[in-house]
Amino acid sequence: MKSIYIIILFLISINISAQEIILLDTLHLQDKKKLKDKYNERKSLFLSQLNHIHDKKEVKEIKAIFEENYKDINNKIDRNELIFDSPLNNYLNDLGVSIQKENPEIPKNISILISREYSINAFNRGEGTIIVNNYLLNALDHEDQLVYILCHEMAHQTLNHVLESVTKHVQSNNSLELKKQTKQLKKQKYNQKTKAENLLMEIAYKNSAINRAKELQADSLGYVFYSRLNRDPYQVVKTLEILRDSDKEGDSITIKDYEKLFTSFKLQTKEQWFKMESFDQYNYQKNTKFNTDSLSTHPNCDIRIEKLVNHSPEIKKTIQQLAPSSDTFLKWQKSAVYQNIQNEYFAKNYGNSLYEALKLYNRKPDPLLKKWIGLNFIKLYEAKKSYELNKYISQVNIAKYTHSYNLFSTFIFNLTLSDLETICKSFNS
Ligand SMILES: [Zn+2]
Repeated sequence: MKSIYIIILFLISINISAQEIILLDTLHLQDKKKLKDKYNERKSLFLSQLNHIHDKKEVKEIKAIFEENYKDINNKIDRNELIFDSPLNNYLNDLGVSIQKENPEIPKNISILISREYSINAFNRGEGTIIVNNYLLNALDHEDQLVYILCHEMAHQTLNHVLESVTKHVQSNNSLELKKQTKQLKKQKYNQKTKAENLLMEIAYKNSAINRAKELQADSLGYVFYSRLNRDPYQVVKTLEILRDSDKEGDSITIKDYEKLFTSFKLQTKEQWFKMESFDQYNYQKNTKFNTDSLSTHPNCDIRIEKLVNHSPEIKKTIQQLAPSSDTFLKWQKSAVYQNIQNEYFAKNYGNSLYEALKLYNRKPDPLLKKWIGLNFIKLYEAKKSYELNKYISQVNIAKYTHSYNLFSTFIFNLTLSDLETICKSFNS
């Protein structure tokens, strides 16, 4: 098994160098331990800073919620869900430092982590940690947008928004209620990815009037930080527009596309693969494969743009000569979707990995993507053989997923074992 893994990585690395795509891998145990130690130190320091709160019961409950948060970060490290100690981390840290340099009011204890999670998002965890999802880079088209998102998250930290929300939550709940919620969230944690990962995230990002007001505050202070950096004001609007549209799937794949793709793989599609029940009669309510998230939804991005424009009219238009993004940004942006295909493969989300690879290959064929498509089909063949296809592909769900994803799901579930075998063989030859 291990040798297969090495061969796969070897094959991939050949292609990467030809295309300047950089894929980051999982880490050695030693590195994981180092990162965990660092976070343990951060935890002790942060929790000790809470001791000034007078109410003993209150401080205990606040600490319990943050303890849970650190446990969650530890679990993420164990499950290889974070990318760290990589050139991409260095790049984000450099951007962070450049923001802090011009904005001395931002706390010094900021630490940026990169998550492999397959969604366009970034979070502040309230104790100085900012988590940026690698997949976010795929959605942005200029470095300034990434800088604004970091400014926004740093503003949340500067304003101590998460700690404030947690304190309010503790004050307004008796501990019995709190325990019940924690228990419920723990139950949901592993089987429902779209739910908040822990109580802290639930409290900090739930859609409430107070949290909506905090978003606007973080936008406006974030823009103050950003405006000191000599970057294009208009990119702030662009960022919010991108987040607004991020729940609409940018790319899709049709029956005609599958026919074209399969011809290029020297295969032929069959009509019955794409047969589904009166598919076209349904109206799609929500044009997304994955549920939308905090960065874009609370509150509505159009309101956020309007508030910012009222306050700072200069963000309405672009500066005369927009400086091009750094080569480093372009490299990581271009790599993000490939990284995501790899992440989803190693996380055993073969359906997601294949779907992303097919969409990208449809737009821009390349041998690296073809390799991932083949590897995923092999896994799905094995899954079909052991009656486990359900584990890797979501069933058609008209209300929840896009037409394109539902067609993909239909196609995969309609493939017979011998169809899958033929497909796999063609990739191996
Ligand atoms: Zn925010």
